[in-house]
Amino acid sequence: MRIFAVGRNYVEHIEELNNQRPDEPVIFTKPDTALLKNNAPFYYPDFSSDVHHEVELVIRISKDGKNIVEKFAHKYYDRIGIGVDFTARDLQSKLKEKGLPWDLAKGFDGSAPVSPRFIPVHDFKDVRNINFHLNVDGVLKQKGNTSLMLFPFDYIISYISRFFTLRVGDLIFTGTPKGVGPVTIGNLLTAYIENEKLLEFEVR
Ligand code: MG
Repeated sequence: MRIFAVGRNYVEHIEELNNQRPDEPVIFTKPDTALLKNNAPFYYPDFSSDVHHEVELVIRISKDGKNIVEKFAHKYYDRIGIGVDFTARDLQSKLKEKGLPWDLAKGFDGSAPVSPRFIPVHDFKDVRNINFHLNVDGVLKQKGNTSLMLFPFDYIISYISRFFTLRVGDLIFTGTPKGVGPVTIGNLLTAYIENEKLLEFEVR
């Protein structure tokens, strides 16, 4: 199982971090030790003092594939969940300045909480119009809709599969909408697709 992620996929989030709008998806990976399951708590790491939440829809690959044509990409994922792409923003900013890889800032242990339940794709009327949001301590912090993605699910799958063979069970974090911000110890994070709460965990 691998975790792939897309950076800079929502215009207003690109603007809030003063990043450039990419011509192709910005892809990075996280190791499987980043995965945080079953609403387990997130332990704040000692190497950062500015860990940010990035709520993202996560798609689950259901069929092995290489060089998948965009037109057929919808056959390669069967479920959609929600997760948080935790980012050590202070560390990432330093690495970005020097043009170095983001791995340490993005792939550390526990940096990829995902919802225990993933919703079958056929339960959605239109995957290009899915609402999702994140609350911190009951206060709305991030709200997104898949219609605002620069690169939709099918394009992302097709693009990643040019470089990496996709395998059953792989997860793809599909980018965060605006509103990213720091978390602190004691916060309770809850993430929703439409109005269904799918993910809930504490920062310790
Ligand atoms: Mg992200």
